[in-house]
Amino acid sequence: MIVCRPPEGAPPVRFGRWSLEDYCDIVRNFHGSVAPGMLIGSFMVQHARAVLPPDILFEAICETRVCVADAVQLLTPCTTGNGRLRVINVGRYALALYDKFTGKGVRVHLDAGKLDDWPETRSWFLKLTPKAEQDTERLLGEIIAAGNTTIGRREITVDPSFLGKRKLGPVHFCRGCGESIPVAEGELCGGCRGGVLPYR
Ligand SMILES: [Zn+2]
Repeated sequence: MIVCRPPEGAPPVRFGRWSLEDYCDIVRNFHGSVAPGMLIGSFMVQHARAVLPPDILFEAICETRVCVADAVQLLTPCTTGNGRLRVINVGRYALALYDKFTGKGVRVHLDAGKLDDWPETRSWFLKLTPKAEQDTERLLGEIIAAGNTTIGRREITVDPSFLGKRKLGPVHFCRGCGESIPVAEGELCGGCRGGVLPYR
């Protein structure tokens, strides 16, 4: 098993209420492995959370479909299931946390311009090393040593039209499959309209 540890003499790293070691166990259980992106994503979430007022109700937007969303779900109360985390996949390694009511918040991203001192991380992020040749333990050690130093952070305000409750509204039965769907979907569900689900 790959071990994550901070460099010699460095202060202990914590994620939420967990020690690094305990957090890595939780990540293994939830995500399958301590992936480099999961670890960087966890630093990103903490770095964003640290500048939000402590007592606000916040929501999250994740700009990639990989790793980062899982870090949000482990380290904040925002999940896709409770509607407080939305993945808008624009392909950027970034996420935003923002006040649910005012939309004011913060966006963080992994800044490739800050990776010159972290060659393993740079090679991983820019896919310069084939995965088979990647020294994952070394890479994870470097990510821990780098901490927040590779992360860019700026204030954002989420558009008011995006805020507020997202109710499903009334439901009816799809004319194609007969399953219940929101009326807003129309007479046919997305599945019956075709082109969306990969089932044969
Ligand atoms: Zn249908």
